[in-house]
Amino acid sequence: MPDKHILIVGAGLCGSLLAVQLAKHGFRITMVEKRPDLRKTDISAGRSINLAFSDRGLKGIKRVGLEEKVMSLCIPMKGRMLHDKEGYTKLSSYSGREGEHINSISRSGLNAVLLDEADSFENVDLIFDAACGSVDLKKAQAWFERPSGEKFEITADYVIGTDGAGSVVRKSMMENRDIRFSFSQNFLTHGYKELSILPKDGQHQIYKNALHIWPRGENMLIALPNLDGSFTVTLFLAYEGGKYNFNNLTDPDIVEEYFKTDYPDAYELMPHLKDEFFENPTAPLGTIRCMPWTFQNALIMGDAAHAIVPFYGQGMNASFEDVAVFDQLLLENEFDIDKTFTAFSSQRKQDADGIADLALDNFHEMKSHTAQELFLKKRELELAFEKEFPEEYASKYSLVTFNEDVGYHEAKERGRAQDKVILFLLNEGLLPEDLSLRQKLDLINEHTETYLKQEVIKV
Ligand SMILES: Cc1cc2nc3c(=O)[nH]c(=O)nc-3n(C[C@H](O)[C@H](O)[C@H](O)COP(=O)(O)OP(=O)(O)OC[C@H]3O[C@@H](n4cnc5c(N)ncnc54)[C@H](O)[C@@H]3O)c2cc1C
Repeated sequence: MPDKHILIVGAGLCGSLLAVQLAKHGFRITMVEKRPDLRKTDISAGRSINLAFSDRGLKGIKRVGLEEKVMSLCIPMKGRMLHDKEGYTKLSSYSGREGEHINSISRSGLNAVLLDEADSFENVDLIFDAACGSVDLKKAQAWFERPSGEKFEITADYVIGTDGAGSVVRKSMMENRDIRFSFSQNFLTHGYKELSILPKDGQHQIYKNALHIWPRGENMLIALPNLDGSFTVTLFLAYEGGKYNFNNLTDPDIVEEYFKTDYPDAYELMPHLKDEFFENPTAPLGTIRCMPWTFQNALIMGDAAHAIVPFYGQGMNASFEDVAVFDQLLLENEFDIDKTFTAFSSQRKQDADGIADLALDNFHEMKSHTAQELFLKKRELELAFEKEFPEEYASKYSLVTFNEDVGYHEAKERGRAQDKVILFLLNEGLLPEDLSLRQKLDLINEHTETYLKQEVIKV
């Protein structure tokens, strides 16, 4: 039975799942969270009220036996419901295979399930309302401060930072002169703002089982359903440039004009838009990459190690997959934490970079390509392949979202190659109607393999 004491900094989604996973093995866990206990206080769980939850996240949840509880909070989303400017809609399935869909889940509901589970272990101590200020990585010692100004310190055998994109544990690594710590943070030109479509007579006002998208070239609006009949709507908009941007949407009349022009059907469902727009914050979006993720007796995980833009709906899923990968390595290394920290940091990095790149790809795909004819033809073909030959073909989206046994890096390489090949063949008229579906798939597979081999040679 492991007898080590592990301090987890940050009780968000990643930290809470990690606490449960490690507590199950018998480790002594202290988890400290900056914010109040979200189960007892009416606070927003932070950015994004609901999230797209899919198979990689589920893999981590299943490992701790919480599948049933978590799935009861989910609304299945079978595809993207595309809204054009005239108000016409078209549902584009996420997969041609039976039963493959993603889910909408409440961030705070999910976090609460994980915290309840962590709380149920005698070997877990949860402390809220205490912000970590710095960490001694070697001593696994961290200093905390409460809003009242009260200060305290905790010393453990190991410290794991799951304290999100602004991680203090990562900052302590950056400031340590004994590590060659590489770090980059790249902001998008776009930010986001959350809005809502409220229920009507307790019911969803638009189709419940889809992720709604209003793609408008440079910008877009999306909406995910909530269990109470509402939708959380997110506007992704450039800070500057174009006719409308966050910097010039400064008064209610311009906001109204923008929504009436670009999102008229959504506008009709958002009578409180002008209030919400000015009450809710605008937040930036960025990608954080760093290396190494471990030094001495400390490790970072989740957004603290690899924050990504949200366009593949994979940040939380990747963080839950982190916990599953970490646990697998822990078992392989017979609970030797030093070896596990090192193995995790070196083995997981490539996949974290993979999903960071894919999320940026999807930003462009969602806001513009989803509405383009060539892209729609490609999707149609891929769905037909997945339906007819479910064992033989998986689109890039399926590889990332539904193939949790394929690493993100591999999903990126194969997915990008397939996309390039299909778009090229369609554009050149090399997939004529008189070819059977089988012949089309063989042609695409053949070109994809050639493309992948060429890429390897280039490297
Ligand atoms: C707009 C938006 C939409 C998103 N949509 C999706 C989606 O659909 N699907 C998906 O999979 N992912 C999505 N994500 C990504 C997802 O939110 C993150 O990847 C996920 O929350 C990472 O979990 P985490 O626990 O690592 O970090 P966080 O959720 O950020 O949790 C970190 C925790 O640490 C605490 N903390 C911070 N600093 C300290 C400190 N100094 N001391 C103590 N505690 C501290 C914080 O209060 C917080 O509770 C989205 C992100 C955004 C911004």
